[in-house]
Amino acid sequence: MKIYNSISEFTNIKDNLTELTFVPTMGNLHQGHISLINLAKQYENEIISSIFINRLQFNDKNDYEKYPKSLESDIELLEKNGCDHLLIPDESILDDIKLIKAPSKSKKLCGKNRPGHFDGVLTILNRFFKLINPKISIFGKKDYQQFLLVKEFVIKNYSNIKIIGGDTIREDSGLALSSRNNLLSEKEKNIASSIYKVLCDIKSSKNLLNTELLDNKKKYLTKLGFEVDYLTICDASTLEDSFSIDTNDLLVAVAAKLGEVRLIDNILLTKL
Ligand code: AMP
Repeated sequence: MKIYNSISEFTNIKDNLTELTFVPTMGNLHQGHISLINLAKQYENEIISSIFINRLQFNDKNDYEKYPKSLESDIELLEKNGCDHLLIPDESILDDIKLIKAPSKSKKLCGKNRPGHFDGVLTILNRFFKLINPKISIFGKKDYQQFLLVKEFVIKNYSNIKIIGGDTIREDSGLALSSRNNLLSEKEKNIASSIYKVLCDIKSSKNLLNTELLDNKKKYLTKLGFEVDYLTICDASTLEDSFSIDTNDLLVAVAAKLGEVRLIDNILLTKL
């Protein structure tokens, strides 16, 4: 695997590269990230990943500073799993960066209490897309709202890039793998697995979706010690609140804090 430790190192060689599939990350890699590398192997292109903790998408300085880092083992993991190129940009990637304003859908779910978060995400990705010019870029559907916004942004702005979504990888307990899980104690991890159980419970009540069901599940999570940011059932493409499973695919999405750690997850309900 070739490693580029700065933007200039990458721009010097980029004209010699073949077609690329791009898997952006913020590092502290786990099998969720690796599943995206494996998905990338289904296409003929060489694979390029990036590791960059993008401060533009954090609105909590503490969260940014505490974000777990494990560069050496990340490099080993990517190498072992057949990634061809790794870009580790220096902060100069942010110099004179064009600020992107995410559309109104970005104000729902994770955008409600994190103003500017998706502006930061699209801003850095726009820069990466210009720099790398990939044929394909792969994102996890664990961050479903991000996947949706990136997909729509690319359809509008980059006719030459195809966005692909990978399924969420979970621990046996159901807990979605996340770099932030490393900040949880074993006991908290155990509690955290209730998030997925709640999503599955709602899925099994697919025919009986209503506000009361949601309120009960929120109360249940609060009792377990979560501070629930949102637990929502919404249209899977507009993200507007909806229980209309007869006509639309729905998304059940949740964000909740356990101690200082913010966890998100979701499950899709296909229309009846
Ligand atoms: P991050 O490093 O958290 O920015 O994530 C980089 C990419 O990995 C994003 O596209 C995420 O959606 C994806 N990802 C994170 N966790 C998982 C998971 N458990 N399963 C699948 N993809 C994931």
